Amino acid sequence: MQVLSSVHAFQNQCLDLRCSGRVTALVPTMGYFHEGHLSLMRWARENADTVLVSLFVNPAQFGPAEDLDRYPRDLERDQDLARESGVDILFTPQADEVYSPNHDTWVDVPGLSTYLCGQSRPHFFRGVCTVVCKLLNMALPHTAVFGQKDWQQMVVITRMARDLNLPVQIVGRPIVREEDGLAMSSRNAYLSDQERRQAAHIYAGLQYIQDWVRDGETGTAKLKSRLEDYYARNIPSGRIDYVHFVHPWELTPVDRIDSQVLAAVAVHVGSARLIDNMLIQG
Ligand code: AMP
Repeated sequence: MQVLSSVHAFQNQCLDLRCSGRVTALVPTMGYFHEGHLSLMRWARENADTVLVSLFVNPAQFGPAEDLDRYPRDLERDQDLARESGVDILFTPQADEVYSPNHDTWVDVPGLSTYLCGQSRPHFFRGVCTVVCKLLNMALPHTAVFGQKDWQQMVVITRMARDLNLPVQIVGRPIVREEDGLAMSSRNAYLSDQERRQAAHIYAGLQYIQDWVRDGETGTAKLKSRLEDYYARNIPSGRIDYVHFVHPWELTPVDRIDSQVLAAVAVHVGSARLIDNMLIQG
């Protein structure tokens, strides 16, 4: 596995790969790898000739009061895990090379970005889209792989790629969970033992929704309040950011579960803001 930090070197090498006809897949990440990240790398290993992984904690997607400075990092461990997962090139650029001091161009998908996480993180998707667009331009991959844990991110990036005619296929892969159901996340490292136990209820609550729907409750206002009650009772260290029921690809609110609907939640537990989601069948 090669580790490249220079944008120029990475871009040149990826251009050569693209010209050589090899099929490449890019997995964009912010590092501190867990099984969720590794599942994307393994999928890429099975479906491409060359696996590219970017590891970049993107300042542009963090708000001023968010956790950019304390976001967990462990480059040595990440290198070992990437190598074991069959990654060919690990790209680890510095922020000042990705964003020049007079950087002035932003990629925005303003409609989809206003829902769900966009409400409490208004600049988040502009930062994500800009960095992903830059990474796609540097890496020129045939495929870029994203996790469904960040469902809205996958939807926004898919729309961006379509709207801008980017020559890449966006692939979404299933959420990888801990044994008790908590979605794996680098931010789980912020949780105390007690918070960690409570955080498992985020997914447990989502699972109840499908039962409530099966028992005949299909109005999303009722389902939302039942889930909020469940969280209030079972996650005393938690503060709900949102519980929403939306169209999976438009992200618009839906009143009734009569077709496939995405239940999406964000909950602050201690100092971690955790997100999760589940497709609910009507
Ligand atoms: P991050 O490093 O958190 O920006 O995540 C990098 C990629 O890994 C994104 O496409 C995420 O959606 C994906 N990812 C993160 N956690 C998980 C998970 N538990 N299961 C599947 N994919 C994940």
